[in-house]
Amino acid sequence: MADRQIVQGGKLVASGERVEVFQYGVSVDPGFLRLAEEAYAEIESLLGRRLDTATLGSKVRIYISDSVAVSHVWMGYEHPRDPKGIVFLNPRVYAGAMHGTDATYIHEMTHLFTWRYRSHTLREGLADYAALQLRPGARVGPNTGVLTQSSTVPGEILECLGTTRPPLDWVVSDPVRRRLYYLASHRFVKFLVEKEGMGVFLKLYEAKNPEESFVRLYGASREELIRMAGMRSP
Ligand SMILES: [Zn+2]
Repeated sequence: MADRQIVQGGKLVASGERVEVFQYGVSVDPGFLRLAEEAYAEIESLLGRRLDTATLGSKVRIYISDSVAVSHVWMGYEHPRDPKGIVFLNPRVYAGAMHGTDATYIHEMTHLFTWRYRSHTLREGLADYAALQLRPGARVGPNTGVLTQSSTVPGEILECLGTTRPPLDWVVSDPVRRRLYYLASHRFVKFLVEKEGMGVFLKLYEAKNPEESFVRLYGASREELIRMAGMRSP
């Protein structure tokens, strides 16, 4: 089902100060609005950033539908080509959110707050970081668990971390490598935020060329920082 169709056919369930919740093909509890409004405020304060409402629209619109397989923002990885403040959630993620066990909605909402990105791994790592900081232990998307203190990560994944390389096909098609890619991205972002704070991290995130900005902002190369974050290739 095309996202456009869900947006056209979605029925408004609840409207708040900064979020609107819609349903399509499923029945949604209006109480979800309160969770989304709370998450909005928490993300804003964690990032120290406001939503770019001039670009994205005055309210975040969340569509919950059984036609959504994998939760995503409008246009998915291509969101910056047509930035809109729209999130699509599947019913499982919504039900988990209502039970406090799934933070995928926070991952997706974080993408909207940081929609201008250069590095896909920094983008995904930051969204998982926000979700897990705000809802520790919750599930986020299809990826479960966290990397342990010292972890071996395939070289092809380490090569992507903090770079502007577009995600390779296996990020979408291979669940095993996808999971590791997301876990490694999360671990790297968590390390960077804890090292120099969110303000410095967002400078890296917004740098034209993040790869060239590591030494200036962190005093170490990308490769050194990956090692310091406890990751190495087998
Ligand atoms: Zn994401």
